[in-house]
Amino acid sequence: MAVRLPIYLDNNATTPVDPRVLEVMLPYFAEKFGNAASRTHAFGWVAEEAVQQAREQAARLIGAEPGEIVFTSGATEADNLAVKGVFETYAAKGNHIITCATEHKAVLDTCRHIERMGGAVTYLPVQADGLIDPGKLEAAITDRTILVAVMYANNETGVIQPMRALSDIARRHGVLFFTDATQAVGKIPVDVQADGIDLMAFSAHKMYGPKGVGALYVRRKNPRVKVTAQVDGGGHERGMRSGTLNVPGIAGFGKACAICGEELEGESKRLAILRDRLESGLLQLGAVFVNGSTEHRLPQVTNLSFGYVDGGALIAGLGRDIAVSSGSACTSASPEPSHVLRAMGRSDELAHSALRFSLGRFTTEEEIDYVIKTVSEAVTRLRALSPLWQKEGAFS
Ligand SMILES: *Cc1c(COP(=O)(O)O)cnc(C)c1O
Repeated sequence: MAVRLPIYLDNNATTPVDPRVLEVMLPYFAEKFGNAASRTHAFGWVAEEAVQQAREQAARLIGAEPGEIVFTSGATEADNLAVKGVFETYAAKGNHIITCATEHKAVLDTCRHIERMGGAVTYLPVQADGLIDPGKLEAAITDRTILVAVMYANNETGVIQPMRALSDIARRHGVLFFTDATQAVGKIPVDVQADGIDLMAFSAHKMYGPKGVGALYVRRKNPRVKVTAQVDGGGHERGMRSGTLNVPGIAGFGKACAICGEELEGESKRLAILRDRLESGLLQLGAVFVNGSTEHRLPQVTNLSFGYVDGGALIAGLGRDIAVSSGSACTSASPEPSHVLRAMGRSDELAHSALRFSLGRFTTEEEIDYVIKTVSEAVTRLRALSPLWQKEGAFS
């Protein structure tokens, strides 16, 4: 049977809304349209009930209490709230933040802002496999350090940082530990207690919920954490994030969390098998390199550099049939090689030839086999045109 084209293998960028999530959301647009902050009538109560249920569902997925969930417009806003909010609240204690070179731009750009505000930021390097050496974190902590901000799993490579080792170090030094867990939540077990997390950002649209909704987990005891609001006006979300709540989005986010909680175990196994099939299929080409640790990695993603091939030409060669993302920041006019791959010590050349394949809930085995075949043909075709491949690669 022919597969339906185009094939979507860019689930780390965004995921489709699961039909079960959409079904939960629909009544909250026109029928149950109340403002969750309206305390005086049933319209408000019904909306507030939906929000409360979603708060419980989101909390349950990450081992938190419902009162520790602050709903936001997504992970970018949650990242901003965590970093800027801690910087403001704990200014008397210090102004130093430690983060990592491979963070998402939502954290890196926020840290640049902190530097402009008079803060000091240390950007920890990573090893060739993308992992942070915990000893480097410990060495970077000073008596002015107020926050460690290290992502749970990387969006480009899927590399999972050693959360417990890192949060232990932060805790021993009395420093708050924040993680951007947008790529991890719903895909692997995440538990804020066991992982020692004080603040954590995640987002609905990376886990089959709608775009424009996310959350910041803010620990309420041992220790009680406070963040200064970055959006003022009305004191919603315990004063940490004002604004009328996106009730349909939040209801969908809650359902998305519940489904992930139920299906995570089986789904992560299924996806790891498909991912490994794709990876080993493409490694057959020779001169193909996996970017990042294959041991500490999310189950659904592989980031591969294709030697003797330009990533842009490869993506163009795949035509409109396969949706993947490149190792370059295509947001800019002149494609910069990925800051993540550069931080891992990859050459510009290999960074430029990198493709990220991210599978998802609706990926099938037939699609994977089609992708192996199509990508292999495209790489072979491009290499046939490369003098360098003729000279050395073909015999390596
Ligand atoms: C997608 C992503 C974000 C941004 O999330 P939005 O909800 O789209 O703002 C932040 N961090 C990571 C790691 C991501 O993958």
